[in-house]
Amino acid sequence: MLSQEETGKLKIGLEIHVQLTNLRTKLFCPCPSDYRGKKPNENVCPICLGLPGTLPQVNKRAVESAIAVCLAFGAKVQPYVVFSRKNYFYPDMNKNYQITQYDKAGGTTIGVGGYVTISLDGERKKIPLRRIQIEEDPGRLVHVEKNGVRKTYIDYNRAGIALVEIVTEPAMHQPREARMVLEKVQTTLEHLGVLDPSFEGSMRCDANISYAGGARIEIKNISSFKEVEQALRFEQLRLEYLPKIESTVTKRWGEKEGITATSREKEMEEDYRYFPEPDIPPIIIDEEIIEKIRKNLPELPDDRIERLVREYGISERLASIIVSEKPIADFFEKTVKILNEPEDVAHWLMNEVVRRWRECGIDYRYSRFKPENLAKLIRMVKEGVITTRIAKQVLWEIVPTGEDVEEYVKRTGLRIIRDPEELSPVIAKFLDDNPRLIKEAFENERVLDYICGEVQKRLQGRADPIILRKEIERLIGEKMKNA
Ligand SMILES: [Zn+2]
Repeated sequence: MLSQEETGKLKIGLEIHVQLTNLRTKLFCPCPSDYRGKKPNENVCPICLGLPGTLPQVNKRAVESAIAVCLAFGAKVQPYVVFSRKNYFYPDMNKNYQITQYDKAGGTTIGVGGYVTISLDGERKKIPLRRIQIEEDPGRLVHVEKNGVRKTYIDYNRAGIALVEIVTEPAMHQPREARMVLEKVQTTLEHLGVLDPSFEGSMRCDANISYAGGARIEIKNISSFKEVEQALRFEQLRLEYLPKIESTVTKRWGEKEGITATSREKEMEEDYRYFPEPDIPPIIIDEEIIEKIRKNLPELPDDRIERLVREYGISERLASIIVSEKPIADFFEKTVKILNEPEDVAHWLMNEVVRRWRECGIDYRYSRFKPENLAKLIRMVKEGVITTRIAKQVLWEIVPTGEDVEEYVKRTGLRIIRDPEELSPVIAKFLDDNPRLIKEAFENERVLDYICGEVQKRLQGRADPIILRKEIERLIGEKMKNA
């Protein structure tokens, strides 16, 4: 196994592919970009099918969106955009080349440098970027098995969808950092308005991991952040225990198996024979366009974190967690606007609502449970209408359905019981069932505590604890007198 000092040299890099879901058309043709749920090969034309003699035309909004992405991460926008051909054969790549960008062989990428800021154990860390580029998505292979016969079909609806690729330096030192970078990239792009992460497969990632001077392992095409972290942990262990066993290889992450498997030997860059795309002339990007886009940038996550700390007096750590997903940050701010109790709102939102959303697999963006309802629930706890315990139980039920919290509490009778007359029959029944406890409780405080707990259980935790205790004491006193 490697020494502590050597493990410090673990290097992780990411290549993050993001579909620009704000675009209505593909990168080089007027075909619609909403391919999800469409019939196979419905959104295609001679350009995105790569037929000979067609000419690609660059989607202006795609270039503007990519400039916004560069500015959001502090990357230097290049004065002109050149596209390159990456030549390779694969059935989903019908032209036998992909139109992309390349920073060698006479090409440039739209963005160079920049960084992603993460908050690691309370400290801010900047992960440097190598480049940001625009490229087209390939088509999709669809594997079908029918009556024991396996067939593969090709769906070109996705072919030509505009992607932005963000490539980091291998500057992360633990798998956890890779996950945080992905979360930060996602929330930044969602704040920018160029990505809707709820679109399946809209953000995918390749990861590479190595120890300084050792073999480099690449893991291809992972779509969930949790799995990126798992795959990297898996390879980290392999590199630590079997440091000399492999040269540079490409791996596929098996979501079901939870391990990586070798998929192919890594192609070297020269295998792709990159050269500038002859069908697309260079696009000049002058300062004026860049400044116009910069001026129109919306509030981005780092600024929002600072504002939440300033405006609501919450800790930076908490603000970072809230802003790590835009829908959560939006939900938080909307709730605080209704009920100005930022700490309470953050507590209930993060500990109860988000947990329930995740358990139910609900996309927060489309949740039926609304900020008004959370504000109402917190107010009911503060006013003593329901207990904290009941409030948690109520959220459990209404987060998936969105039912109004007041109506739910009314319908299920979950409000706090304060009326002694309502409590006494339940207490009397318990004492009748356990007559032995009456005398014991009279002499021993802890037995009294026990009775309070048991009766409270029979009332599903709804009794006001102080009134309940008084009523129990009163009834025991009465029974002792009559005994
Ligand atoms: Zn097309």
